[in-house]
Amino acid sequence: MRMRDWLATRLEQLHYFLLPSTCLLCGAAGAASRDLCAGCAADLPRNSHACAICALPLSLDNQIGLCSPCCAQSPEYDRAFAPFCYRPPVNFLIRRLKFNGRLSHARLLGELFADARAERGAPWPDCILPVPLHPLRLRERGFNQALELARSAAYRFQIPLLAQGLRRTRYTTPQTQLDARARQTNPRGAFTLEQPLPGSRVALVDDVMTTASTVAECARVLRAGGVADIEVWIIARAGGER
Ligand SMILES: [Zn+2]
Ligand SMILES: [Zn+2]
Repeated sequence: MRMRDWLATRLEQLHYFLLPSTCLLCGAAGAASRDLCAGCAADLPRNSHACAICALPLSLDNQIGLCSPCCAQSPEYDRAFAPFCYRPPVNFLIRRLKFNGRLSHARLLGELFADARAERGAPWPDCILPVPLHPLRLRERGFNQALELARSAAYRFQIPLLAQGLRRTRYTTPQTQLDARARQTNPRGAFTLEQPLPGSRVALVDDVMTTASTVAECARVLRAGGVADIEVWIIARAGGER
């Protein structure tokens, strides 16, 4: 993380404790002690008609509730939950978090995620694991966005957050720099399970899901480690049926 970004992140933390909440999107006063106003909250791109397994946004005429890839083959995980579509302004908030170190954005997105997941209710996981970054990328960025996003849900639901549960052992090219085919094979063999888990139901957290190959690879490792139920928790789902 560059010095200027590091400083901006620290100032932002200070700002959070000292000043009233302010909408991160329009600068108006925040509603319900959140950094989001009621108007901007109402305009967020909700993923309300999504595949029951992979959370892909479905077309309005899809009555089955499943996308065609999930009809053809079940993924490695049991189900995914993504309350938002990866569209403006949610994509903007996620990019500012990842590339500008704006941790206030992680707090807001994490709280919005927790609201939506609370509405859904049981089943609940026994522990929460963030998709890990490779140590080199972690040093470069200064934080793991998946871990920062997972904190609000862990706190709200009082579920143990295992920050080091999974480890990324191989440095991989960022998925955004690869074509669709390379994205599928890129994360293969990149993760290991580092510790015994307190229970057999896991929530695996990441910021965005595009091709799902990263979470699928994490899920494969969890399954091999004896995890019975894997729910993927994603802030925003990219793509969708036409
Ligand atoms: Zn606003
Ligand atoms: Zn699906």
